[in-house]
Amino acid sequence: MISIGVPKSVAALCTGGIARAGALSEQATCSFAWVQSGVVGKSFGWSVGETLKRSQPRRAFATRSRAAASGGVNGTVADSKDSEYDYDLVTIGAGSGGVRASRFAANLGAKVAVCELPFSTISSDSAGGVGGTCVLRGCVPKKILVYGSQFAHSFEDSKGFGWSYDAKPKHDWNMLIDNKNKELNRLLGVYKNILKNANVALIEGRGKIVDPHTVDISGERIRARHILVAVGGRPYVPDIPGKEFAITSDEALDLPSRPEKICIVGGGYIALEFAGIFNGLGSEVHVFIRQDKVLRGFDEEVRDFVAEQMSLKGIKFHFGESPTAVEKGSDGKFTLVTTKGSEVADSIMFATGRKPNTKNLGLEDVGVNINSKGAIEVDEYSRTSVASIWAVGDVTDRMNLTPVALMEGMAFAKTAFGDEPSKPDHRYVASAVFTQPPIGTVGLTEAEALETYGDIDVYTSNFRPMKATISGLGNRTFMKIIVDAASNVVVGVHMCGDDAPEVLQGFGVAVKAGLTKAQFDATVGIHPTAAEELVTMRSPTRKLRQKSNKVAEEGAARPV
Ligand SMILES: Cc1cc2nc3c(=O)[nH]c(=O)nc-3n(C[C@H](O)[C@H](O)[C@H](O)COP(=O)(O)OP(=O)(O)OC[C@H]3O[C@@H](n4cnc5c(N)ncnc54)[C@H](O)[C@@H]3O)c2cc1C
Repeated sequence: MISIGVPKSVAALCTGGIARAGALSEQATCSFAWVQSGVVGKSFGWSVGETLKRSQPRRAFATRSRAAASGGVNGTVADSKDSEYDYDLVTIGAGSGGVRASRFAANLGAKVAVCELPFSTISSDSAGGVGGTCVLRGCVPKKILVYGSQFAHSFEDSKGFGWSYDAKPKHDWNMLIDNKNKELNRLLGVYKNILKNANVALIEGRGKIVDPHTVDISGERIRARHILVAVGGRPYVPDIPGKEFAITSDEALDLPSRPEKICIVGGGYIALEFAGIFNGLGSEVHVFIRQDKVLRGFDEEVRDFVAEQMSLKGIKFHFGESPTAVEKGSDGKFTLVTTKGSEVADSIMFATGRKPNTKNLGLEDVGVNINSKGAIEVDEYSRTSVASIWAVGDVTDRMNLTPVALMEGMAFAKTAFGDEPSKPDHRYVASAVFTQPPIGTVGLTEAEALETYGDIDVYTSNFRPMKATISGLGNRTFMKIIVDAASNVVVGVHMCGDDAPEVLQGFGVAVKAGLTKAQFDATVGIHPTAAEELVTMRSPTRKLRQKSNKVAEEGAARPV
């Protein structure tokens, strides 16, 4: 038996949470709990453990009186007597943003209730679950499946290092899904406890706003000084014939069996992450993308590089091809009809974006402004057009990431209840795509930097990592640093290759801190790592000078 240790990246399961001293954050709870549960290769369904124990830090509960709760950043909320309200805050939606905001508000002395739909792995207008998308249908289950699928590549890699297998390692999809669901159930309990320990009342039911201070929760009316809308979003499938035969990421995380062949529509991060998952687990994967490149919004070179690396692993990309229909055959298979042809598969997955859950929430009736994409419009403090109603997380469509929802939730709580007006800071937020190989990124793309600064220096490196020199596989790593030429400040770092998300978390601090390229250069690398390349790229690959309207001399590219 091969014993597999606890992954170093365990804390990244619930990305980005910051545990305050003495307090237990949602994210930290998730990570510690994961460690406690032990992670073994067999649990990921492979037939080829180790349990760490760590006591959870005790959290201190603040006991400021309810009456001390403030009236909000601008003091514009009607200053009514406490007796008018059942709660200082009612939060609709107990996902990342809602739980964080409620818990922090309660810690600041507010009397808080949060309402959430009953649990289901598939989200709908009437089902959800405490923990929200990240915990139940997003970051966490997805990363568990990514871990599960990565073993396939490790088996391949290991051969050059002397390993051999009597038979091809077999994977048990049902075991992986069972173990994933056990973990989700456990996390569901953990999240309920987080709320309970923070003295936040959890009310199961669908919340709907009746007036600026009243929420109807499945028939029960509750009055609150402040209302926080944190209802997130749900997958969107375009309105084409047969769309009911398509699955989304919700179902893909909970399929009764692994499709031998799957068509995935979409070129965003969710589409590509699932392509990697099914590819690793042995499915034939076809990805259909309307545009001519994957990952719109990411750095162009990263977009090209990741598609090339994924293609090497056998994923087939169909660029410039849009879906027009999904058909169900009598043999139980499905056909994806596109603008260029058709493909038959066991499952057709649409990862064609997500829409904010703003329908039938009573928002427009009370005067909350909603933009053309269905997202709630908020000011810098997450306040809507109605003074007593606030919104955080994906429902505001600012930056749809869990750590961002947490930041917005926390800033809201400080603003509304902490006497500390706080704006969430969306600049230089590092993020990752858990493709295989994964991407880590922080700051501006080359195009954005050029547009913003005019004159930039670009450093790139495309190399074969040490592991691949022995495994003999075609894996490569790409890194890029973008520097504002005038100030020498590093304004973007991008990486695609093994451990990129872990590496970029650290470099995210450096970029957020506004460090210069000279300071990167003054940092001694850790050897032998891939990450050391990020502090040893000395010669720019190109110097772009838009201010003076010319492209300066091409720097000597590092040898590939
Ligand atoms: C497949 C997938 C993978 C992802 N991977 C990552 C990742 O790796 N890293 C990352 O940072 N982000 C990731 N995300 C995004 C992340 O999950 C979201 O940004 C985050 O969950 C947003 O939090 P939220 O609080 O805004 O909403 P949610 O977490 O969606 O929570 C909203 C909650 O509101 C509830 N709700 C809705 N309507 C009502 C109502 N009327 N009454 C009561 N309750 C209601 C819902 O049931 C839900 O629980 C991923 C998302 C998906 C779909």
